[in-house]
Amino acid sequence: MVTTWPPNFPVLGEGCQKFADWVHQMSAGQMSIKVYGAGELIPGLEVFDAVSSGAAEMGNGASYYWAGKSPAAQFFTAVPFGMNAQQMNAWIYCGGGLELWKELYQKFGLISFPAGNTTMQMAGWFNKEINDISDFKGLKMRIPGLGGKVLTKAGGTAVLSSGSEIYTNLERGVIDATEWIGPYHDYVMGFHKIARYYYSPGWHEPGSVLENMFNLKAFNELPEHLKVILETASARMNVWVISEFEAKNNLYLQKLVNEEKIDVRKFKPEILEQLKKYTQEILAELAEADPFTKKVYESFSAFAKDIRNWASYSEKLYHDL
Ligand code: CA
Repeated sequence: MVTTWPPNFPVLGEGCQKFADWVHQMSAGQMSIKVYGAGELIPGLEVFDAVSSGAAEMGNGASYYWAGKSPAAQFFTAVPFGMNAQQMNAWIYCGGGLELWKELYQKFGLISFPAGNTTMQMAGWFNKEINDISDFKGLKMRIPGLGGKVLTKAGGTAVLSSGSEIYTNLERGVIDATEWIGPYHDYVMGFHKIARYYYSPGWHEPGSVLENMFNLKAFNELPEHLKVILETASARMNVWVISEFEAKNNLYLQKLVNEEKIDVRKFKPEILEQLKKYTQEILAELAEADPFTKKVYESFSAFAKDIRNWASYSEKLYHDL
């Protein structure tokens, strides 16, 4: 298994090793998986090609990294103002998402299963206050993908930096702000030592799905019970990663607030409304990229709209108590 994460990366990398151990146990030793961190065998962003070509039999990452292969891939991880972890699971497992994902990946000789979710991310670390949408003008922020496109529409500049460069870029003022993941991973990165404000919510990544991808030919050649074991262990990994993120983010948010005295802020609803409008324009443009992207966009948006309505009668009311 080649992965897009640095070796032993908290939660994401740990989940991969747990998956390998579970598969070994479930198959009574019939199947062994060796996990490689990014850079150990191949660079992280070559995982898709390595598994597609069969150079590696499986990989772990996030499908939005493969937007260059098809813009549609982004919907299987997260798009700004998309769905949360629970809703993404509902769409993928029970709302037609997985079938579309399989349809896309089989063109590349791949098959993927959900294998975790970062859960709701944070909007990020800022060295200036964001009180109004105009405060994004001229803001240099590390924010990849579609979130970066939304920031650009708001007048900011999206800067791409790899994980290892973010801290020094923020410290030296090369960037004014950065997003990363959530309280646990952000704490480990030490952003609280160099940034003034920690904003919520992670509108750009409300629930990013992680994937276990397999070379389709290698997968299809397996006996039936081993295929089921891989799919089942991926589902267990999905539950573990989500649960670990929730537990750790809860703990580390408290640390940031109580021990590090971090100023945690919420974006005003007007700011989020405007970012959402920009997002809708960008997603509508994206849907025109090709007919398949349009098909995925339509399935995703219809499901998201309906489940938001259901959530307004269920989770939202309960969370607001
Ligand atoms: Ca992120």
